[in-house]
Amino acid sequence: MNDCIFCKIVNNEIPSKTIFEDGLLRVFLDVNPSSNGHMLVVPKKHLRDFYELDNDILIHITKITKKMSDLAYNKLNCDGIRLISNHGICQDVKHFHLHIIPIYKEEKKLRALDEILNLLTK
Ligand code: 5GP
Ligand code: ZN
Repeated sequence: MNDCIFCKIVNNEIPSKTIFEDGLLRVFLDVNPSSNGHMLVVPKKHLRDFYELDNDILIHITKITKKMSDLAYNKLNCDGIRLISNHGICQDVKHFHLHIIPIYKEEKKLRALDEILNLLTK
């Protein structure tokens, strides 16, 4: 899908603040975060939404989502995690992605993406 922004990101045609990558997926910071550490878990294959995921990729996404959530707890000291996957009319980017949104007891000012990337990857 050459007009798909997330295909372009996973193929390194446009940059992203990447936290984790393997052969099957990439995790990067949302460009317009809802909170500090808002990440997107994105399969490398263009799959439209949840209904197009097979069990293998679903299990893999779940495993990596747990790892990334641990990272947010450990490195960003969040107090909770919200997982969101939008479908249909509320899905803007039509390439499956799972939002990992750290939640904090006290509302925190949004910090620069590079600062958050540093904290998550150092
Ligand atoms: P949804 O499709 O779940 O409604 O939302 C798409 C999400 O992707 C939004 O939170 C938006 O900020 C994020 N997003 C859209 N374009 C880009 C991009 O080019 N880079 C990054 N890192 N995030 C993006
Ligand atoms: Zn795509």
